Amino acid sequence: MTVFRDDILQSKVALVTGGATGIGKQIARCLGRHGAKICIASRKQENLVATAEELGAEGIECIWVRCDVREGQEVEHVVNEIVRQFGQLDIVVNNAAGNFPAPIQGISYNGFRSVVDIDLRGTYNVTKAAFESQLKYRGGHIVNITAPFQNMGVSLQAHVAAAKAGVDSLTRTSAVEFGPHGVRVNAIAPGATADTEGMDRFEGIEAGGDSPCPLGYVGAKQDIASMVLFLVSEASSYVTGQVIAVDGGTSIDLFKLKLPTES
Ligand code: NAP
Repeated sequence: MTVFRDDILQSKVALVTGGATGIGKQIARCLGRHGAKICIASRKQENLVATAEELGAEGIECIWVRCDVREGQEVEHVVNEIVRQFGQLDIVVNNAAGNFPAPIQGISYNGFRSVVDIDLRGTYNVTKAAFESQLKYRGGHIVNITAPFQNMGVSLQAHVAAAKAGVDSLTRTSAVEFGPHGVRVNAIAPGATADTEGMDRFEGIEAGGDSPCPLGYVGAKQDIASMVLFLVSEASSYVTGQVIAVDGGTSIDLFKLKLPTES
């Protein structure tokens, strides 16, 4: 499944927000398959239960806690539950996010606030609670799942781009503040990722260019999970404060130029 040894995360505990679905679920599975005990946290209990059972059947020790990452006290409860049940917390993946495609004029005041609250404030809440309770004392890793377009102008994503730009900023600041405590903080900017709700929401919306990216194919959830694994492993021990694109080169192919004969 990956190039890493199966037991590299043995004796580690990981929290994946939004870990019951999509990319977060694959991240939870990947960390679990490499030995970590997992907690997934999000709002819909039926998804949490189903995913915890599915991962459990695959041999992964996985608990779930219901939580809205916008609420500081709920987030603190998640961290306390992890410590109560597993005794520690080493890895935090801030993956939970909200999104819907809409032009600026089509986003309500509440819709804009909600996306910024989930993506940015949620990431802050989880980061703060996990650091104060555990990471500050034992070191560890935070990986924020961000997006590939916040440094450009991408239509229909004003709310998400603004929120994820904040997440990138928080990644750098927390890497600087937490570095002396042995905590590395990095972010992953996924490109369009196949078989996710995130992609489903864009069904029917036309993208420019006839190839998804320079590598020529749409990425998979495991591509993102593998980068998380790399970032929480010793292989990346001198990397912190970085936002790493996992997008097949989409973000560096600005004009998508092609000769007329090229297909
Ligand atoms: P997804 O399946 O919609 O996952 C979002 C998750 O976040 C869900 O499990 C959801 O669960 C949870 N969540 C939403 N609001 C929450 C809240 N207030 N509190 C706690 N949990 C909440 O999305 P995805 O497509 O896999 O995306 C995962 C991450 O990758 C996101 O950060 C997204 O921005 C990023 N990303 C995705 C793509 C893509 O192509 N899919 C591209 C670029 C970036 P509940 O609704 O049950 O709470």
